[in-house]
Amino acid sequence: MSELRRDPIAGRWTIVNTDDPQLPESYDHEEPRTGKSTTCPFCYGNEAQTPPEIVAIRDPNTAPNTPGWQVRVVSNKFPALQIEGNLDRRGLGIYDLSNGVGAHEVIIETPYHNKDLCDLTQQELTNIVHLYCQRTLDLEKDRRFKYIMIFKNYGASAGASLEHPHTQIIALPMVPKNVKEEIVGAHNYFEYRERCIFCDIIRQELQEKERIILENKNFFAFCPFVSRFPFEIWIMPKKHTSFFCQTAFEEIPDLAVILQGIIARVKKIFGDTAYNFIIHTSPVNSDGSNLDSYHWHLEFMPKLTRVAGFEWGTGFYLVPTPPEIAAKFLREAKVD
Ligand SMILES: [Zn+2]
Ligand SMILES: [Zn+2]
Ligand SMILES: [Zn+2]
Repeated sequence: MSELRRDPIAGRWTIVNTDDPQLPESYDHEEPRTGKSTTCPFCYGNEAQTPPEIVAIRDPNTAPNTPGWQVRVVSNKFPALQIEGNLDRRGLGIYDLSNGVGAHEVIIETPYHNKDLCDLTQQELTNIVHLYCQRTLDLEKDRRFKYIMIFKNYGASAGASLEHPHTQIIALPMVPKNVKEEIVGAHNYFEYRERCIFCDIIRQELQEKERIILENKNFFAFCPFVSRFPFEIWIMPKKHTSFFCQTAFEEIPDLAVILQGIIARVKKIFGDTAYNFIIHTSPVNSDGSNLDSYHWHLEFMPKLTRVAGFEWGTGFYLVPTPPEIAAKFLREAKVD
């Protein structure tokens, strides 16, 4: 019989196929790279094709918007939300609306078109993570913004419209629903137990070890007991930290090692598969009431299945591979 599992944070249910677990080789996934070489606006020499750079790590002898950079941050050319204007929240009968105010930036992770994060040096990835923080800290100065979301789409089936490796940062004028659910769930747990639920999960997972993939001094990666997707992976700081950008400078290399390690393992098992990751952190410009109960984390999802009618209709997720089995495959994947 399959198992119904309830997420202790957001309260959602999943159906885990513990009866007849699907093994890695039976997943059909799309290759993220088409190999088509159309002119790429993120490649060296094409800097004029993007909006002007906001910040870059580059050779000091080079000018902005020319080659010579290692990481480059630009505004999204087709932003979901725009920085100018007032939020102007208003009602329309029973409906609420506001102007599409926000910010939408792109971090071009490397000049190399065909490299993924796991192909970069640890220092290069550390630089990228520093820039995530630098941009977040800058964006949150704008009091209109309540949430800064960092996310990556890798491969067309994961929603990437350009192949060249990049991450996106979006600043939102309200806290998104998925985050709010976690914040409320974590807050309720804290009210009841006076402990952070994420810290409790860490303690239990480190003790049981069954779902752990990788760990080092400051971070660890595991397949959550209530995964929504097969081979879903979370990375969490071991120490209670509510904001992603509170991660200490000297701890960032540890995060880079874990992130590279899980991407390399996923690729070892599934080849060059599409994936998404998102960073869930505390809201900005808020009353700070969630600081003891909310713990930032990175959620990583290889794109192995499609969300179908049952999921859309119920909010339940069907998980063909139990996280215990997924973690075992990931832990044992041999990567250099
Ligand atoms: Zn490119
Ligand atoms: Zn915590
Ligand atoms: Zn989350």
